Amino acid sequence: MSRPVRLAISGASGRMGLALLDLARDDKRFELVRAIVSPSSGRLGKAVYGDVSPMRFADWSGDGDVDVVIDFSGPDGLLAAIERCEASGAALVTGTTGLSPAIEERLAKAGESIAVLRAANFSLGVAVLTRLLREAAAALPGWDLDIVEAHHDRKEDAPSGTALALGHAAAAGRGATLDELAVYAREGRTGPRKAGTIGFAVVRGGDIVGEHQALLMGQGERIELGHRATDRSIFARGALEAAAWITGRAPGAWTIEDVIAAKV
Ligand code: NAD
Repeated sequence: MSRPVRLAISGASGRMGLALLDLARDDKRFELVRAIVSPSSGRLGKAVYGDVSPMRFADWSGDGDVDVVIDFSGPDGLLAAIERCEASGAALVTGTTGLSPAIEERLAKAGESIAVLRAANFSLGVAVLTRLLREAAAALPGWDLDIVEAHHDRKEDAPSGTALALGHAAAAGRGATLDELAVYAREGRTGPRKAGTIGFAVVRGGDIVGEHQALLMGQGERIELGHRATDRSIFARGALEAAAWITGRAPGAWTIEDVIAAKV
């Protein structure tokens, strides 16, 4: 049998990082070799993740002892992960959202030399919802479309990466870009809405793991498509599947659809 995939988790002390550690610990496909925490993390030195002590990216030389990094941190953590992966040749799986165009570009560039897989949402249900929404938006081009998302009160970006990804899919179904069709809810919006536009509404509070609802609104009828995550282990499981899948792959910018296609 081949050896387990040597795994590093970036953002290890965060909500997703801890969910990943929980699953990876019992997954024989992986050996956890690095648990990377934020430069300002107060947990450094106190916690132990499996047999691994937490460390910072700055203290990891990128010495080729990691096959794949899973990153759920933030823009700075992702940038550091890209650098370490490029230096060591490790593959990178990232779920971090709220990226600036500059980081998006940096990620795309990394795909020229290492295998990179990025997903705004690692759940299978959201992958299917995305397909359904693309199809519905295409079939009903003149209907107004709003995406309503709800998350816990600590979430930093809004609308969520998943809401934006759903918006991109719906716009693509209408043969346009999201920039061309997006209308963001704003104070004092008055007057009629332009037909076929895509709006976003954001709810933040409590411990909501992640909810997305797409409303397609016509005259006298509407369609509601939705997904509700009740446990963040679904994202962690999806990210581990992606990590197992991408290990040893050629450089490139891979997507969660590639992983799902390989399984169907
Ligand atoms: P969190 O705030 O609980 O965890 C983020 C962790 O990253 C924190 O512990 C923080 O200290 C750490 N971090 C910050 N900078 C770092 C650095 N430079 N190096 C190493 N670690 C660093 O957040 P979360 O809920 O775990 O979410 C993390 C990210 O993942 C967010 O962008 C969120 O939107 C995204 N997310 C994506 C999915 C998905 O399926 N793609 C699902 C859930 C969350």
